[in-house]
Amino acid sequence: MNYDVLIVGTGVAGLYSALNLDSNLNILMITKGKITEANSYLAQGGISTVRSKDDITCFIEDTLKAGGYENDIKALSILAKESRYNIKTLLDMKVPFDKNNMGLSYTREGAHSTNRIVHCKDATGKAVMDTLISEVKKRDNITVLEDTYCADLIIRDNCCYGAVAIKNSESFNIYAKVIILATGGIGGIFKNTTNAPTVTGDGIAMALKNNIEVKDLNYVQFHPTGFYQKETSIEETSRQVFLISESLRGEGGKLYNSQGKRFVKELLPRDVVTEAILQETKKTGVPFVYLDMTELDGEYLKSRFPTIYEECLKNNIDITKDLIPVAPVQHYFMGGIKVDTNSKSSLDNLYCVGETSCTGIHGKNRLASNSLLEALVFSRRAALKINSDILNTQLLTPEVTETFDFKTVENANRSMLINEFKHRLRGNYSESISC
Ligand SMILES: Cc1cc2nc3c(=O)[nH]c(=O)nc-3n(C[C@H](O)[C@H](O)[C@H](O)COP(=O)(O)OP(=O)(O)OC[C@H]3O[C@@H](n4cnc5c(N)ncnc54)[C@H](O)[C@@H]3O)c2cc1C
Repeated sequence: MNYDVLIVGTGVAGLYSALNLDSNLNILMITKGKITEANSYLAQGGISTVRSKDDITCFIEDTLKAGGYENDIKALSILAKESRYNIKTLLDMKVPFDKNNMGLSYTREGAHSTNRIVHCKDATGKAVMDTLISEVKKRDNITVLEDTYCADLIIRDNCCYGAVAIKNSESFNIYAKVIILATGGIGGIFKNTTNAPTVTGDGIAMALKNNIEVKDLNYVQFHPTGFYQKETSIEETSRQVFLISESLRGEGGKLYNSQGKRFVKELLPRDVVTEAILQETKKTGVPFVYLDMTELDGEYLKSRFPTIYEECLKNNIDITKDLIPVAPVQHYFMGGIKVDTNSKSSLDNLYCVGETSCTGIHGKNRLASNSLLEALVFSRRAALKINSDILNTQLLTPEVTETFDFKTVENANRSMLINEFKHRLRGNYSESISC
């Protein structure tokens, strides 16, 4: 199979890259499961954006503060400056962002010093993905292959020429002038994660195997408020936990320990709130704390957070009346495949976008709602760079002699990643990695 561009992954980063590539390019997108089986589809809270030019400095400062001032300042300035353009593009595509009589409705989340997050109720990811998927389906130059697993990259002399894919137990080569990896984060290697089951760090595994430069692998984010459920089976290798979005705290939710006492300011950065909750659970011996939304108007809660309301109700918690049991859970990966500000990796012809990449904008801790924005801004930049360079790029088809079997590759990747991250997170949440 020969293409101009091969994109691995159909989350926001993969889809938005495809839509920003020239329409005369022949593009193949492959994805491990169904097109919607991605973290992007689960995103709740929203997408951050600067409110106006005057907000750029403040946005950057908030992101730096949350990231422990370890952020890449050049990439971060780009993120801030290009944020509104990309939100406008989504609006032009008819993403149904919530509005009020002043225009877009902006909410607030932890460590943002102002309301600057656009949202579609509490299911922003679904709304954005549905729009991007319908746009991709309109394009004749984009083919999407579902249930197609990328097992490895085809590399010769520090240049990427394609990938080996597996579909229906059959392995085959896909050759392309340019390859974009958009395989998402690493949730699947943790015992409890908010991530979709398809998100298992495959891009990082391919990078480690092929000596592609990676960055900040020790920066894994644990979200403070996953919906707490007693563990039912110790045999489960990775359990998907329902997220209770930070925007609930942004709208006034309060955290209490099991003795009914407040113990932390709710809108501090995620790593700080997570650490405070873990300290509290150690002190009290109760493995969760409570999020209280009951002071807010019940009807408002139901209309603003319909998905969370329904999901909690399935577990006998009515968020308008009951306290919500919450505990920290693996959520996001700040590190990843090292890329420049056009999302180009250390390997020629290989671009990496979204959560699998590391642009450095997050530093050691991501500011809420900055990851969808990062996926948009830097996948567009990747596409623009590819559009301008592809005429000078040749399609080569080196033979691959190795044979690939899905289970063998998956198991080998999994044990490699578990070893790597146990080592990287030594003493720091490493016990939350699957055995
Ligand atoms: C519950 C939840 C809520 C969130 N809420 C927000 C929010 O409100 N705001 C925000 O900014 N961020 C949020 N995030 C984070 C954000 O959703 C993700 O960081 C972002 O969507 C990542 O997009 P992506 O395109 O890089 O990866 P994903 O959307 O995860 O897509 C990865 C894709 O790669 C495919 N794939 C993986 N491995 C392979 C392989 N080997 N072969 C083929 N395909 C493969 C997957 O099937 C999938 O299609 C949330 C995350 C979660 C889990």
